[in-house]
Amino acid sequence: MATKHELPPLPYAYDALEPHIDEQTMRLHHDKHHLAYVNGLNKAEDMLKQAHSSGDYAMVKHWSREAAFHGSGHFLHSIFWPNMAPAGQGGGGQPSGDLANQINADFGSFENFKAHYSAAANAVEGSGWALLVWEPETQHLQVLQAEKHQNLTQWIVTPLLVLDVWEHAYYLKYQNNRAAYVEAFWNVVNWADVAERLSAARS
Ligand code: MN
Repeated sequence: MATKHELPPLPYAYDALEPHIDEQTMRLHHDKHHLAYVNGLNKAEDMLKQAHSSGDYAMVKHWSREAAFHGSGHFLHSIFWPNMAPAGQGGGGQPSGDLANQINADFGSFENFKAHYSAAANAVEGSGWALLVWEPETQHLQVLQAEKHQNLTQWIVTPLLVLDVWEHAYYLKYQNNRAAYVEAFWNVVNWADVAERLSAARS
């Protein structure tokens, strides 16, 4: 708790994911929404630290909720940005190597995985995410929906590929057509980043 959380810079330009994800959405999403999660997490941790000093835990439920909401928002967005890359320059295509083998083993095929992940992303409600995760207990990949991302904090799984489907992530360009946004996402998935995360989760 001693260190302040900071907004990580985007690993590419704001317009680098055009036309699939537009520059204005990226500017607002990264500079405003993600920053608000960072600030909210720092505030919640400050208040919890004050409780350590004062011994007054009357607001622990409130600040724990704030920390979970903003912390999950911060950490998931920090995965989401490097999970993407400009189309044709690291983004899009299909996974290879160990990641591809594990996807085939757990979903039957890449097409099965893509259909499953897209369906989860299209259907989830609320502060929603679709997630490909590594489940260490079973050594398998899973696709999850997060309806309230603050509920993720106690899970054991390691997120590998996450897709933000809260309306701020796509509404400027896609309005109510979330499915078109989800379909466009596949053009900018950075499979090398996803493979690195799988490798790290396994080691
Ligand atoms: Mn978001």
